[in-house]
Amino acid sequence: MTGTVVKSTGSWYVVRELSTGQLHRCRLRGKFKIKGLKASNPLAVGDQVEFGVEDQTEGAGVISQIAPRRNYIVRRSVHKTGHVHVVAANIDQAMLVVTLVSPATSFGFIDRFLVTAEAYHIPVTLLFNKIDLYDEDTADYQTQIMDMYARIGYPSLACAAHTGEGVPAIDALLDGRVSLLSGHSGVGKSTLINALIPDLDLKTAEISEFSDKGVHTTTFAEMLPVRPGTFIIDTPGIKELGLVDLPPAELAGYFPEMRALLNQCRYHNCQHTHEPGCAVREAVDKGVIALPRYDSYVSMLAGEDNRK
Ligand code: GDP
Ligand code: ZN
Repeated sequence: MTGTVVKSTGSWYVVRELSTGQLHRCRLRGKFKIKGLKASNPLAVGDQVEFGVEDQTEGAGVISQIAPRRNYIVRRSVHKTGHVHVVAANIDQAMLVVTLVSPATSFGFIDRFLVTAEAYHIPVTLLFNKIDLYDEDTADYQTQIMDMYARIGYPSLACAAHTGEGVPAIDALLDGRVSLLSGHSGVGKSTLINALIPDLDLKTAEISEFSDKGVHTTTFAEMLPVRPGTFIIDTPGIKELGLVDLPPAELAGYFPEMRALLNQCRYHNCQHTHEPGCAVREAVDKGVIALPRYDSYVSMLAGEDNRK
C-alpha cells in the first residue's frame, strides 16, 4: 500500500493510506539513509512510503520503502550534534503567519524564514494576522510591507483568525496542496488552524490515537487534513526552521532582489558590505532594494541571532 507519513514520534509513524485516507500505525523495517544528508530521523512528516499491514493482531504496519523527496525542510537536531532533524518533506508551499502588532514579528525573523524557503525551493505566502487590532497608521504600514515583499515575489494575505476575516482566502490558497504553517509563537497560528479546521480537536485526537500514547510529542510536526487532498503541516513547539548554516558566499543568492545583481558587482567575491563598485549597495542607495531586507542580509551574514 502507498501512504503518507502524517506524524512521527521517533519509533512509530502514523501513515495515511493514499486510496482510503485510513490511518495506520507503522514502524520502519531496516535502516534507511538519504545520501548526503546527516539526519537524526530517517522519515519525516510528508514522506511517501510503501507499507504493508503484516501483524494483523497488533494492527501495525511495516514501512518497506520511501519515495524520493521533492523537497524537505530541516532544523538543527537537538539530540545529535552535527545532524539535522528533517521536519517535513514534500511541501507544496509554506505559509508564514506574522503580526505587525501584539507582538510585532521582526524582519530578521521573516527574512531568515524566506532565505530558508529559497534554499529549499519552497514558495512562501506571508499571512498578516490580527488585522482587527490595526489603527489607520498600522493599516498603511502593512500596505507598504506587503508591497515590499510582493515586489520580490512573496505574496501576502491579511486576516484576523479571531473573527474569521480573510480566512476563506487562505483556505482557497491551501486547496489541493500540502502547506507548512509556521510562525513565531503568539502570532495566532493555533487560532488560525482552528479557524481553517473547525473539527481540529477531533482530527488531532484521531491521529494521536495511532501514535505512542504517553510519549511527549509536542515538538513533532503533524499533517492535518483540512479536507481530502488539502493538508496543513503544523510544527508545534518548533521555533526555528532551517537553522543550517549557509556558506556566507551563497547567502545573497537567496535574496531574490539581490540575485539578479550579483554578477554586476566589481568583485566576483563581493559580500556587498563595504566593497567599492557593489551593485547591491548601489541598489539599496537608490531604493531599489528595501533597506530592511538589506539589513537582514547584513545581520545574517554576520551570523547574528535574529530569530526573535
Ligand atoms: P500561536 O502561539 O501562534 O499558536 O498563537 P495563538 O493562536 O495561541 O494566539 C495567541 C494570542 O493571540 C491568543 O490570545 C489569541 O486569542 C490571539 N489572537 C489570535 N488571532 C488573533 C486575531 O486575529 N486577532 C486578535 N486580536 N487576537 C488574535
Ligand atoms: Zn556587491
